[in-house]
Amino acid sequence: MEIIRTVSDLESALGSARAKGSIGLVPTMGALHEGHLSLITRARKENDTVVVSVFVNPTQFNNPTDLATYPRTEEADCALLESAGVDYAFIPSVEEMYPQEDTRVFDLGPVAEVMEGPMRPGHFNGVAQVVSKLFSMTRPTRAYFGEKDYQQIAVIRRMVELEGGYDGLEIVSCPIRRHDDGLAMSSRNVRLTPDQRMVAPCISITLKSSLVKAREMSLTETRQWVIDTVNRFPFMEVEYYEIVDGITMQPLTDWSDSTIPVGCITAYCGDVRLIDNITYKI
Ligand code: AMP
Repeated sequence: MEIIRTVSDLESALGSARAKGSIGLVPTMGALHEGHLSLITRARKENDTVVVSVFVNPTQFNNPTDLATYPRTEEADCALLESAGVDYAFIPSVEEMYPQEDTRVFDLGPVAEVMEGPMRPGHFNGVAQVVSKLFSMTRPTRAYFGEKDYQQIAVIRRMVELEGGYDGLEIVSCPIRRHDDGLAMSSRNVRLTPDQRMVAPCISITLKSSLVKAREMSLTETRQWVIDTVNRFPFMEVEYYEIVDGITMQPLTDWSDSTIPVGCITAYCGDVRLIDNITYKI
């Protein structure tokens, strides 16, 4: 595996790779875990060359404390990437990614106007900025994203459409990887205290139980049941729970409004912000 830190080195390395075949890109912010690894393994199976970017993107953090406390574990990340058979780890500095301030404002539309959109102003525009830069630099055949960040995938698809498709780039969405107790794997989980870590699986357990509730409850009742149930646990405070259409991300009021209703939750466990989601099969 080669570690690349500059855009010009990335472009020259990928020039010959592109001539040989397909390129799979997995964008990450590091502090890698098995969730990331599942995307990388899939990229490895489906492409001739695999690039993983590790970059904590400042423009997508609307909370300075979150940026400052975001875990950074470059050495361990590189060891994991090497063992996963990655060809190139792209680990640029902030100056390399943003030689000038990125003032682009993407017209992300309705998919970015709900849930994470209003809760984290500027977040999705920052995601669109960094991912569009990575796509232009890498020009991948396929790019891999996790369904843990369900709304993010819709936003990225929209950005790709706005930018003209990046030569037929395929956006591949990959299922959520969980710990044995159900907690969605996340780089932020390391910030949970042992007591909070014991409680945090209540999010996924409640979402799963709501699949059964949904058979007899209306959509609004199910939504409220999830919020009330999670809020009853110590340390837990739900920021939002919305049941949305899996494509448009627009909140639903009735089960019959969508063929893919997806419940998206954000909840604080202490001061750690956790997200998860579940698809209802109606
Ligand atoms: P991050 O480093 O948090 O920006 O995540 C990089 C990519 O890995 C994103 O596409 C995430 O959705 C994905 N990812 C993070 N955690 C998981 C997980 N538990 N299961 C599947 N994908 C994940």
